[in-house]
Amino acid sequence: MSSTKAYAAQSAATPLAPFTIERRTLHANDVQIEILYCGVCHSDLHTARNEWGGTVYPCVPGHEIVGKVSGVGNGVTKYKIGDTVGVGCLVDSCRTCDNCKQGLEQYCSGGSVGTYNGKLKDGSGISYGGYSKQIVVREEFVLKVSDNLPLQNVAPLLCAGITTYSPLRHWKVGKGHKIGVLGLGGLGHMGVKLAASMGAEVTMLSHTASKEADAKKLGAHHFLLTTDAAQVANKAKYFDFILDTVSAPHDYNVYLGLLNTNGVMICVGAPPAPAQIAAFNLIGQRRSLVGSLIGGLPETQEMLDYCAAHHIVSEVEVIDIKNINEAYERMLKGDVRYRFVIDMATL
Ligand code: NAP
Ligand code: ZN
Ligand code: ZN
Repeated sequence: MSSTKAYAAQSAATPLAPFTIERRTLHANDVQIEILYCGVCHSDLHTARNEWGGTVYPCVPGHEIVGKVSGVGNGVTKYKIGDTVGVGCLVDSCRTCDNCKQGLEQYCSGGSVGTYNGKLKDGSGISYGGYSKQIVVREEFVLKVSDNLPLQNVAPLLCAGITTYSPLRHWKVGKGHKIGVLGLGGLGHMGVKLAASMGAEVTMLSHTASKEADAKKLGAHHFLLTTDAAQVANKAKYFDFILDTVSAPHDYNVYLGLLNTNGVMICVGAPPAPAQIAAFNLIGQRRSLVGSLIGGLPETQEMLDYCAAHHIVSEVEVIDIKNINEAYERMLKGDVRYRFVIDMATL
């Protein structure tokens, strides 16, 4: 066991604060990683504050991890000390079910293990995430990261990147498609960059007028202010896809109405409260309302390699870990351009 500095929430109502955790002694297949940067995902906030239920305290969030390998178990073959690596939202799964065998570990029927707030398969308790100095992860759940991109900008790819890349690939979004990306935050800005890079016509759907210029710089071809009823009405039945990244409750029916015949609205945003859908908004144009969860390990590696080849990274504001609670408040207000990333040297 090794004592490791971290930041934890002790309850849903207490701010994150310094906390010491124990990382396990390396098993044969384990990789130990010195964490350099960790992105701040809205899921960290939902979990730290128990907005989805089921949070076990103390809770150490963080699943957009990049760092350097600082130790390897004697059975590790893919990594050596000094390698630049990443860890995303998963640290384990059953590894034997049909989904795991297909590289869809996020849909593991035996139960995948989240990087934080996950029940560890060895019975040693609950997983602690990346708001910490180091982490120990089975090598199958460690990703190779290119040294050619700035690491603080790569960290958010491990969740925001794969969560938007995976559905774009699954639904084969590309040339000839019109897609609306709803919500310009961490996920949304990666959705815009990735969809544009795949050749789709991208419209940013945002409730914040001041984000228009940024949206276009990120690659959006058009901007629609969702609080302006006339602009919304003007795009009725326009889109082939909508990628919904909004974290707060909102009216899905409004956006279903923007889909053309056979259009698909892909939910990745995870507001805590259930949505109400009018059946006629689906029936009328044979529309689909679907969801997508992060991505499996092979696809996460594919996404990292794709981003390295296309020079795609996240726009980040690097913060000291002592400012994490303030960052959460700013994220709640939609005031993040476009991902906070913790510099772990400040811990
Ligand atoms: P974020 O950076 O906070 O971005 C959310 C964006 O939603 C905001 O920037 C804002 O964009 C919009 N928004 C916020 N409050 C709103 C409101 N009241 N009404 C309308 N729009 C609002 O969050 P994130 O890290 O991208 O995460 C987004 C959601 O995805 C979270 O619920 C998170 O838990 C979930 N998530 C899901 C997966 C998955 O596997 N499916 C993975 C990661 C995260 P505008 O200002 O442009 O309107
Ligand atoms: Zn996340
Ligand atoms: Zn499985």
